[in-house]
Amino acid sequence: MSDKPIFVTQPSLPSLEEFIPYLEKIWESKFLTNGGPFHQQLEEALCEYLGVKHIALFANGTLALVTALQSLRITGEVITTPYSFVATSHSLLWNGIKPVFVDIDPNTLNLDPAKIEAAITPHTTAIMPVHCYGHPCDVSAVQKIADTYNLRLIYDAAHAFGVKDKNGSILRHGDLSVLSFHATKMFNTFEGGAIVCPDAKTKQRIDHLKNFGFVDEVTVVAPGINGKMSEINASFGLLQLKHIDQILAQRKEVDSTYRELLKGIKGIRCLQDAGEKVANYSYFPILVEADYPISRDALYQKLKDNNIFARRYFYPLISDFPMYRGLPSAHRENLPVATDAATKVLCLPIYPELTKEEQKSIIDLIRTY
Ligand SMILES: *Cc1c(COP(=O)(O)O)cnc(C)c1O
Repeated sequence: MSDKPIFVTQPSLPSLEEFIPYLEKIWESKFLTNGGPFHQQLEEALCEYLGVKHIALFANGTLALVTALQSLRITGEVITTPYSFVATSHSLLWNGIKPVFVDIDPNTLNLDPAKIEAAITPHTTAIMPVHCYGHPCDVSAVQKIADTYNLRLIYDAAHAFGVKDKNGSILRHGDLSVLSFHATKMFNTFEGGAIVCPDAKTKQRIDHLKNFGFVDEVTVVAPGINGKMSEINASFGLLQLKHIDQILAQRKEVDSTYRELLKGIKGIRCLQDAGEKVANYSYFPILVEADYPISRDALYQKLKDNNIFARRYFYPLISDFPMYRGLPSAHRENLPVATDAATKVLCLPIYPELTKEEQKSIIDLIRTY
């Protein structure tokens, strides 16, 4: 049994000394929020790092999702995945939009493009897929459907910071992509989020919407929200960005150690590794299949009894929560793959400081029963 608890994730923090100069600048300028210098610098730095054209920072990812939908004036029904964090669908309800759940692909656990068309109705206005665990959706198949039916496409890319396909950032796809910088995410600003958008005009509209709808001192063009990121969070983001490549390299190492150690354990399946794509190793999900000797929940409990706190991401499915389960699309018969995955998945601890010894002790517990 591990003597100190091992959680599924541990936020990466630079040293406190490194952060002090940023705080001193804020104290000197007395610029605390409202799009101050650090806010602007972080937007520019992220555009460069991620290889995207425009970014609007937010106080958190959920407000960014809510605002992304508003900026494109989405109404009616939106097709989305039940296999995600609940904020994905909540952002639809906050806009008075009806979520329509479509099943996922058994290999990627992302929205299955082959099942989208059957869910389209005259009320459908958009598709909101998730790059689950940072594994890219089949972006070209989804875009083709969006184009054919004239639907908007907003990616919940909360897990996909820094992920690339062979032609560049995964965040360039769709009309908008939304990031989360929550403490549990691989790039964090304590709380934070962003919308990635392709043109300056859309960014401007988003910037108005996140600031009460203000265009200038006396003009309000929409019932906007307060979604601004503060200078403290933005400055912390700039500092985090300095360390992100090292964090990625360490996560990659943890990921490949797990893959090596898990080889040949009957009944345990890893999701495909990134191959030629650039992954971010945000999560390490395993699927506990029927031929594993004990159930997923029994394994979860066994690890917990040994001070290892794996997480059942994503269980329960969003479609099983009370505010969604009455929807026709939420029926389990409509979502067999997602329902199955939710009973099998377990996310193992992954973060830069996780040692090889700790990984070995986790895998020993999984190997022996
Ligand atoms: C974390 C997360 C969110 C919400 O982001 P917050 O910054 O915590 O508001 C939304 N969608 C997914 C898939 C997430 O994992």
